[in-house]
Amino acid sequence: MILTDTHTHLYSEAFDEDRDMMIRRALDAGVKRFFVPAIDSAYTEAMIQLEKEYPENIFLMAGLHPTHVKENYKEELRHVEKVLEQHECYAVGETGIDLYWDKTFLKQQQEAFVHQIRLAKKNKLPIVIHCRESFDDIFEILEQEKGDDLYGIFHCFTGTKEQAEKAIVYNMKLGIGGVVTFRNGKIDQFLNQIDLKHIVLETDSPYLAPVPYRGKRNESAYIIQVLEKLSDVYALPQEEIARITTANSKEVFGR
Ligand SMILES: [Zn+2]
Repeated sequence: MILTDTHTHLYSEAFDEDRDMMIRRALDAGVKRFFVPAIDSAYTEAMIQLEKEYPENIFLMAGLHPTHVKENYKEELRHVEKVLEQHECYAVGETGIDLYWDKTFLKQQQEAFVHQIRLAKKNKLPIVIHCRESFDDIFEILEQEKGDDLYGIFHCFTGTKEQAEKAIVYNMKLGIGGVVTFRNGKIDQFLNQIDLKHIVLETDSPYLAPVPYRGKRNESAYIIQVLEKLSDVYALPQEEIARITTANSKEVFGR
C-alpha cells in the first residue's frame, strides 16, 4: 500500500526535535510520497535541504501562503518565481485567501493569488489552494482565470457539497485530511456522493491532527486515521482508497 500525503509541512519548527523519526514513522506506515507546500522565503532553504535527504520521497512546491502576504509581498512573489526557475517544483502553493486571521491585506492576497495562478499556468503546474472563510472570493478568481491550464488541489477542503462540486468544475481535486474525522467536521456526511477520483489525502501536519490526536501536533503517519475514515465513508477497503488517491495525486502533480 502506497500512501501520498499531498500536503505536509515537514520543515516546520514543530518537528525540529524529531524530524527524521517522524518521517521514518510515516514511511513505515506506507506514506512514500510527501508533497511539501511553501509558506514564504524563510523556509526555502530548509525545504531544499530536506528534499536532498529524501530525494525519492519528498517533492516541493513554491508559493506564498495567504497569511504571509504582508507589506513585502511583491518581493516574496519574486522569490517564488526565482525558486520556480532554479528548482524543480511540482506545484505552486500554497496560495489562496484567508479571511479568518486578518482582512488587512485582502486586496494583496487577491493579487498574490492571481499572480500565482498565472505562474502555475506559465510553468504548467497545478496550484494548491488554501481557502479559509473565503469560498466566494476564491471562486470569483477561479471563474476569471478558469481554463484547461488551471487545475490543482483545494487543500484541506471543509466546504459544503455544493462547494465541492463547484471546485471540481474548476479542475480541482479535494484535499481531505483530519477534519473528516471530526465529530463536527460535516464533510463526512456527503463525501460518499463525490466520486473518489476527485479526492486526494493530506495531513496538513503539523496542523489539524485527526481524531484521536485532535488538538495535538499532527504528523504524516496520522494519514492512516484519515484513510480509515474514508474507508468507512466510501465503504471500500483501505488498500483501494490508498491506490485511487495515490493515482489521483500522480495525475495532479505529474509524478
Ligand atoms: Zn498548509
